[in-house]
Amino acid sequence: MKKILITGAAGFLGSHLCDRFIKEGYRVIGMDNLITGDLKNIAHLFPLEQFEFHHHDVSNFVHVSGTLDYILHFASPASPIDYLKIPIQTLKVGSLGTLNLLGLAKQKGARILVASTSEVYGDPLVHPQTEEYFGNVNPVGPRGVYDEAKRFMESITMAYHRFHGLETRIVRIFNTYGPRMRLNDGRVVPAFMGQALRGEDLTVFGDGSQTRSFCYIDDLVEGIYRLLFSDYAAPMNIGNPHETTIREFAEEILALTEANQKIIYKPLPTDDPTQRQPDITKAKEILGWEPQVGRSQGLKIVYDYFKSLTKEELQKKEH
Ligand code: NAD
Ligand code: UDP
Repeated sequence: MKKILITGAAGFLGSHLCDRFIKEGYRVIGMDNLITGDLKNIAHLFPLEQFEFHHHDVSNFVHVSGTLDYILHFASPASPIDYLKIPIQTLKVGSLGTLNLLGLAKQKGARILVASTSEVYGDPLVHPQTEEYFGNVNPVGPRGVYDEAKRFMESITMAYHRFHGLETRIVRIFNTYGPRMRLNDGRVVPAFMGQALRGEDLTVFGDGSQTRSFCYIDDLVEGIYRLLFSDYAAPMNIGNPHETTIREFAEEILALTEANQKIIYKPLPTDDPTQRQPDITKAKEILGWEPQVGRSQGLKIVYDYFKSLTKEELQKKEH
């Protein structure tokens, strides 16, 4: 049985990746320090003999006994609200955490895939974003703690690949949504759905003309799975190219949830990117991958998930 270490296992993406690799017959070690994750996302895996959980901060030395075939490094705060609240931990997990996991991969002879982000393109001047674009990031702005940690992550991963011949993969993930997102993590999908369910007005930041392209979780997991088993070591975009303005998106959520509230406008956060859309030519050609789940279908599934939460969970305000 092949063994895989998944960091950030109790988070949104990590928990879905644990599910996928358990389903594929792997022995899965989930690792997480629970700083933004929740054990309830993987509670269903605890009874399984093929699954074990290590409560550990990967910015400190990472030890795994025995053999290891693959590592997926997904540990990092991912929502702007989270990484602005814990900026140093965010920088540490992207830099020291990545270094520790590359060292572990080298020691074990394991292949490692690291979770990068569309944020490496910053506020992009090229549209849609191809992997060749170097980006437009403000390194000293508030969002820089996340963007630069991920840029360093990519850089050190390529250095281990070139210098040590390590088998590495880099996925640049664009905005992804699905069940197990924290309702109050501040990202726009749970934010709007939470507001719709609580009977609050939807808060659009700025004038809502900024764009994003939202990918459903199952499509992302499939893309990551194919990338891991490909021969492709350079960064690859995985995302859904179907772009929308945030204002149109708010209207879409109001229609879906049949909510009677209105849209209200709040100040745009510093360095909030004005447009974002992945160019997925490489994923199509090299992995034969493209998204299968349309936005209306995916949003309906997520809405049903959020509706199933208890009243207490719905009212819980973290920020
Ligand atoms: P999440 O906050 O739900 O999950 C992150 C997990 O990492 C949490 O369980 C958290 O407790 C854990 N973690 C954070 N720091 C850690 C540390 N030092 N040691 C051990 N565990 C730690 O976020 P997510 O949306 O699941 O994102 C997962 C990864 O994917 C992140 O690396 C993120 O940068 C990347 N990503 C996500 C998206 C997206 O749209 N969700 C987009 C681009 C990139
Ligand atoms: N946004 C918004 N209202 C909210 C939360 C977010 O208008 O309540 C906007 C945010 O300013 C950004 C977009 O929605 O332009 C996506 O935000 P998110 O935090 O989900 O992701 P990111 O900015 O990292 O792409």
